[in-house]
Amino acid sequence: MLRLGPGDDAAILRLGQRSEAVVTVDLLTDGVDFRLSEIDPRRAGRKALAVSLSDIAAMAARPTAAVVAVALPEQNGRELGEQLFLGMLPLAEQFGVAIAGGDTNSWAAPLVISVTVIGEVAGEEPLCRSGARPGDKIVVTGDFGGSILGKHLDFTPRVDESLLLSQRYRLHGGMDVSDGLSLDLSRMATASGVGACVELDAVPVSRAARELAARANDGSSALEHALGDGEDFELLMAVPPDDAQRMIAEQPLDVSLTIVGEFVDEQGLWQLDSQGNRQTLAPRGYEHRLD
Ligand SMILES: [Mg+2]
Repeated sequence: MLRLGPGDDAAILRLGQRSEAVVTVDLLTDGVDFRLSEIDPRRAGRKALAVSLSDIAAMAARPTAAVVAVALPEQNGRELGEQLFLGMLPLAEQFGVAIAGGDTNSWAAPLVISVTVIGEVAGEEPLCRSGARPGDKIVVTGDFGGSILGKHLDFTPRVDESLLLSQRYRLHGGMDVSDGLSLDLSRMATASGVGACVELDAVPVSRAARELAARANDGSSALEHALGDGEDFELLMAVPPDDAQRMIAEQPLDVSLTIVGEFVDEQGLWQLDSQGNRQTLAPRGYEHRLD
């Protein structure tokens, strides 16, 4: 039975009386999600598993197994397939994920790889996008922007972090930031039927975002990169104020936790500048092109 369907980071299936499975799938393509001409193929294999693990983390679930489907290019396909698998293995081991099977095809076209990860709900309730309430603080892990410089391939999915946080604190809602902080935040606010107000000065801007912004002809500020670049794969959470303050004081993770604003009654996405002026903030991020 389907307990939670499309619209969240993963689906939840009720199996029998007691058990529930969390299921997510991602599909990556050479030329869109990575460029095999520029990187070690093992990093592409690793990324293909990591993005699905990030969606499991978004639900505060524990990953169990993965199944992998690949369409390999005919030329050097066998060698590529092996390298992809070798890239996936260390990450699977790190998170106790069994690679349970899959399917291998070949075709006269670039690599397509799809990883399905199955997990279990760890606590009483999964973490959903729809749970944010007005007054909740917006809490994020890590920093944002410029992941194209390397993090989009080598990030650590926040599986352990979300399990620990959901055990130790009350979390009303959450998701992983895959398409851009402002875009994903607006999606979470919409799913929750609330608004979100971002304190611009509080947004953790990554070194890579600053590096990109400093390049000639870039045309965006480091903050704009942090708000709009895709593939940060950090956690975005709605946390009741007292738990948020405790979280920030305790900093229980290896990665930093930051309050970047709060969820508000008035629907929409808002920004608060250092003078306390509130304006609308246009959500920006990565969206797949479709005609
Ligand atoms: Mg996601």
